[in-house]
Amino acid sequence: MQINKERVLQEFFELISIPCLSKNERQVADLLTKRLEELGGTVTEDQANKVLGGNTGNLVANFKGTVATAPKIMVSAHMDCVAPCDNIKPQIVDGVIKSDGTTILGGDDKGGVVAILETLRVLKEKNIPHGDIQVVFSVCEEQGVAGAKNIDKSLIGADFGYSLDSSGRPGKIINAAPGQNKIFAKIHGKTSHGGVSPEKGINAIKAAGEIIVKVPSGRIDEETTCNMGIINGGRATNIVPDLVEIACDARSRNQAKLDNLTKTIVDAFENSCTMEGVRVEVEVVPSYGSYLLDNASSCISLAQKAAERLGLPVNIGGTGGGSDANHYNNFGIPTTVLGTGMTNVHTCDEILLEEDLYVTAEWLLEILTEAGGTK
Ligand SMILES: [Zn+2]
Repeated sequence: MQINKERVLQEFFELISIPCLSKNERQVADLLTKRLEELGGTVTEDQANKVLGGNTGNLVANFKGTVATAPKIMVSAHMDCVAPCDNIKPQIVDGVIKSDGTTILGGDDKGGVVAILETLRVLKEKNIPHGDIQVVFSVCEEQGVAGAKNIDKSLIGADFGYSLDSSGRPGKIINAAPGQNKIFAKIHGKTSHGGVSPEKGINAIKAAGEIIVKVPSGRIDEETTCNMGIINGGRATNIVPDLVEIACDARSRNQAKLDNLTKTIVDAFENSCTMEGVRVEVEVVPSYGSYLLDNASSCISLAQKAAERLGLPVNIGGTGGGSDANHYNNFGIPTTVLGTGMTNVHTCDEILLEEDLYVTAEWLLEILTEAGGTK
């Protein structure tokens, strides 16, 4: 291996020891800014936090390449993590890194962060020829991928990119992810005393019942799903409820199917109630668009070649979840997500194989070396 394992492990432990909830990434961001600058990067922090209500913006760092003809590559990971992440005490048992069971580990996504830092360090130390590199460390990924969604687009630009933020062992390459719309419906009835004058009311819960069975939910096809996830309504057993609120999530890896499904859901909300006087308001909030990358694209093929050279099992496929990469793809930077080995994320059982921590860094280094044209 070209990377320095001891340094990677130490930096990983250092980074996960800093609490870094979404909207509260300041301490980690300051440390990363310092590291990126020490490595020769020009770092800019955007103002996404002004929209998001956090204390930190996305970090974008640019590193000048030594090979003018090489593609410019973006590498990204997110800084924030989910709770509980205070006082993480990592331990290594039989090659497996885990917390003491009272917190998450934080491999999601500090495993990606340290891979990026180590890659930059080794490129510099060993004078490995490379093209321009843009590093993006995002905020609020764990809150509806909101950091990348609100990134200052004038700061980002690359021929293609790699987001180090997927479960699955190094060698896993994501070539497709769904787009997602959230659909919020308000079903309005009319309130009245349920015992004294029910005929004066319009029961929004009854109306919702009639509507709900007509709204699609579940798996629609291989690449399309929707889920009615939240329902709220009613105040007391003796009050005719005048409002029910419902929220749904629609996803598809095919944008046309997502558009169609969204239309069907909206239509079902708006038109399936036969009760008089019921009013329905529907709002569609697009979260992110889908993407589908060609396996022959430079982005995928470079990652594949590098993985093969390292003897990693290559596994190219789609995912059912969205990530920062959805936004980068939507902004015109073809970006794949790479497996970093993170396992059982968002739970106190999160683990990461020590080997995967190193192999992820080695893989990214191999990709950037390959792109630099010396292999
Ligand atoms: Zn993540």
